[in-house]
Amino acid sequence: KKRKKRSLQDFVEGIQAGNLVVLSQAITLIESKQAKHQELAQQIIEKCLPESGRSLRIGLTGTPGVGKSTFIDSFGQVLLKEDRRLAVLAIDPSSQVTKGSILGDKTRMETLSVHPNVFIRPSAAGESLGGVARKTRESIILCEAAGFDTIIVETVGVGQSEVAVHSMVDFFLLLLLPNSGDELQGIKRGVMEMADLIAINKADGENIPAAKLAKKQCRNGLHLFPPKPSNWIATAEICSALEQQGLTKVWQHILSYQNQTSINGYFQQHRQEQAQYWLEESIGEQLKNLFFKHPKIKDKFDETKDRVVAGTLSPFKAGELLMQLFLNGL
Ligand code: GDP
Repeated sequence: KKRKKRSLQDFVEGIQAGNLVVLSQAITLIESKQAKHQELAQQIIEKCLPESGRSLRIGLTGTPGVGKSTFIDSFGQVLLKEDRRLAVLAIDPSSQVTKGSILGDKTRMETLSVHPNVFIRPSAAGESLGGVARKTRESIILCEAAGFDTIIVETVGVGQSEVAVHSMVDFFLLLLLPNSGDELQGIKRGVMEMADLIAINKADGENIPAAKLAKKQCRNGLHLFPPKPSNWIATAEICSALEQQGLTKVWQHILSYQNQTSINGYFQQHRQEQAQYWLEESIGEQLKNLFFKHPKIKDKFDETKDRVVAGTLSPFKAGELLMQLFLNGL
């Protein structure tokens, strides 16, 4: 059975009609390593760009086990009641190591995943963080063109991925556990500082007192950070994804954030800054690719690296030498 290949127009029309099969196939093109696919993907993105940008983009992070997928499953119900259409995209560079996507697990978000107004897409396994991040950002554009007005970008809180997510969302939500007093010490200051809201999850049953204490500690901790450029004052709340408690409150915070930052102009300004950031990232990535693919560099790189590793050549000098070699060879 050979299926007719979709044309650029088929893709664009399908996406704009909200066809999830076509949307999914277009994202597969974005993720493909084949030059032909990538080229088509770029054309699709370009055509969809004018239809994009009208969603609310929410970043969600937290350590494995904190309840991210349970949270999205329950929080998604709140959104669906508000007639929102929800796309969930996951950034999971750790799958490179574990050889299986933590976020791609099929059993996650069981109730949501069958709903027609929901689209869930885990990131491609075996990708570098930069790669996944770029592709996720491009996927956001297609999801918006397909009519999704709420995008959740989820990431496992294991390091640099939060920064990547922060650079593509409007609002950043951090999930923590009750008894996170210790966790608060361990959690990177930077991640907490990025948060627009901290939700202490699993605030149910005998966890409630601990959750309330954690909320207080978080609020105190958040006070110590300098004011945000958005003028938004980050706070902490408790919730139970499992018992579906406190989720409406979380949604209200997100809506007031959108309202407040739309009025003070930050919402738009932030998106423009992000676009500029991704322009610079993209140039950096392309330059790096050109550099390492260059035959002169391929020739000399290993030898130079050995000298750097052996300590007979400084990394800076080596960088300069290789760059000179590259520029002369252009
Ligand atoms: P993720 O790794 O962050 O996506 O976490 P999961 O959503 O897979 O949840 C990890 C475990 O915590 C599961 O056994 C969930 O049932 C449980 N869990 C998630 N949310 C809650 C909650 O609000 N309360 C309680 N008691 N358990 C929860």
